[in-house]
Amino acid sequence: MARKPGRDEAREERERVVGAWARRLDVRVLHCRELQHAWQPAHAQLCVDGGWERVLACSRCGSRKRQMLDSFGRLVGSPRYEYAEGYLPDREEALGRLDSDDRAALRLAVIQRQNARVPAAPAL
Ligand SMILES: [Zn+2]
Repeated sequence: MARKPGRDEAREERERVVGAWARRLDVRVLHCRELQHAWQPAHAQLCVDGGWERVLACSRCGSRKRQMLDSFGRLVGSPRYEYAEGYLPDREEALGRLDSDDRAALRLAVIQRQNARVPAAPAL
């Protein structure tokens, strides 16, 4: 198969692996991978120090994000995530961190799924 201009062999292999993974993803997870999560406030609990523990839930895939806030509402530390099943690649897939080219492959995967659902226009 002809190589795309500007693509080396390693990049093409990476595109193949990421594309295969994207095709196996649940469509909701694929959309969150490409568009980021659709966070909605789910729960907040007052802490003894006057701060808050707040939980956000993704309305699309169900992942959850837990934030710690001080009494002024400022974020304290880093949020913790509980990802929906299938959001994280399996260990054996060893994808590592997704880069901008990987995200481009995810965008194409979303477009391909969208187009697969659209019935073909009738021939004239
Ligand atoms: Zn999500």
